[in-house]
Amino acid sequence: MVVGVHRPTRLVIDRAALRHNIHAEVERLDKNCELFMVVKANGYGHGAIQVAQAAKDAGATGFCVAILDEALELRAAGFNDPILILGVTSPADAPLMAAEDISATVAATDWLADAQAYLALEKDLTAPLHVHLALDTGMGRIGFRTVPELTTAIEYVDAHQESLDFEGIFTHFSTADSPDEHYFKQQVAKWHELTDHLPRRPRYVHVSNSATSLWHAECNDNMVRFGVSGYGLNPSGTAIKPPYALQPAMSLTSELVFTKQIAAGDSVGYGATYTAQQAEWVGTVPIGYADGYERRLQGFHVLVDGHACEIIGRVCMDQIMVRLPHDYSRGTTVTLVGQDHGAEITLQDVATYCETIHYEIACGFTSRLPRRYLN
Ligand SMILES: *Cc1c(COP(=O)(O)O)cnc(C)c1O
Repeated sequence: MVVGVHRPTRLVIDRAALRHNIHAEVERLDKNCELFMVVKANGYGHGAIQVAQAAKDAGATGFCVAILDEALELRAAGFNDPILILGVTSPADAPLMAAEDISATVAATDWLADAQAYLALEKDLTAPLHVHLALDTGMGRIGFRTVPELTTAIEYVDAHQESLDFEGIFTHFSTADSPDEHYFKQQVAKWHELTDHLPRRPRYVHVSNSATSLWHAECNDNMVRFGVSGYGLNPSGTAIKPPYALQPAMSLTSELVFTKQIAAGDSVGYGATYTAQQAEWVGTVPIGYADGYERRLQGFHVLVDGHACEIIGRVCMDQIMVRLPHDYSRGTTVTLVGQDHGAEITLQDVATYCETIHYEIACGFTSRLPRRYLN
C-alpha cells in the first residue's frame, strides 16, 4: 500500500516517550539483567527501525521479533545487536539465521534435527545457530512441556556443537497482567520444575514480558523481553497500576478537509444510519478503516479544539464524519489519539470502545499512515 504523504493524516511517534519508558525499566532491573526491546509487527505499529534506535539509546542491549523477515530488516538497517525470533521459523532457514547471527526459538527436538540437516549442508558455516529453547509452562502455544523432552533437546544441541549453540531458555506467562495471581504462580512452579535441574545454564534465561517485569520483577533472571510498556502502554489495560508513569509514544492526528451545516432530518454516511435531529455542523476527516481506524468506531469521538466530537454515520474506508460544536475552518487539527487542549483520547479508550486491547489497535494501523517522528 502506498504511504499517504499528501494527506494530512499521520501517526506521530514521540521518541522521547519511548526512551523514557525503556530507560525507566532499565533503571529498575538488576545489574546483571538485560533488556531486549520487542519490536515485532513493525514495533507495534510505531516503526521497528526507529523504535530499535530509541531503545538502544535508552539502554536496550538486544531485540526480539516475531518472524525472520523482521530480524533481517534490523540487520539490513545496520543493527548488530543480539536478535531473538520469538516464533517458530522454518528449519530450512537455519543457515540464513546462522549467517546473520540471528537466534532461533526452538520448540521441538525434531525441529533441531531438521535444522541440523540443513546446517550440515553448508560448506562455509562460520558460526553455529544460536537457539533458545521455549518451555510451555501453561501458555499452551509453543515449547517443551516435560523434563525428558527438554533433556533430549539439550543433549541433541550439545552433540552438534559445530552447528548448534544452546544460547537461551525461556518461557512466556499468560496471566502476568492479571490481579489474580493463581495461574501465574502455577506457571512459575512449572518453570522451576522444568529448569531447576538443568545440566547447565545457557547465556540467557528469561521469562518476563512487560507485565511480568513490571509486577513480578523477582522472576526476571538475566533478560527481559520488554514490549508494550516500552511504547507507553499498560499491559493490564487499567487493571493494575504500573510502578512508574508510562508515556504513550503514539498519537494520531488529521485535519478537517470539509465542513458543512446540515438540517434536521438530513442523514450521514453509508446506510443512512445517522439522521440529524436539528441543524448541526459536520466535519469530514480523511481517515477510515483502510488505515486501521476501525469501522466499529461509529459513535466514538475525536478531539477538535479540545472538544469531543462524535463520529456520526458509519466509518468509511477512507473518511469519517464528525459532529462539530460550530463551524471550524478547513485545516483545523483533528486528534484521533493523543492530547488536544487538555483533553485526551488514549489507545486504551479506542480499544475499550472496540472491545479489544490497545496492542491490536496500535499494530492494526496500516502502512498508508505515514509515521512522523518527534524528538
Ligand atoms: C510479544 C511477546 C513479548 C512482549 O510482550 P509485551 O506484553 O508486549 O511486553 C514477550 N515475549 C513473547 C514470547 C512475546 O511473544
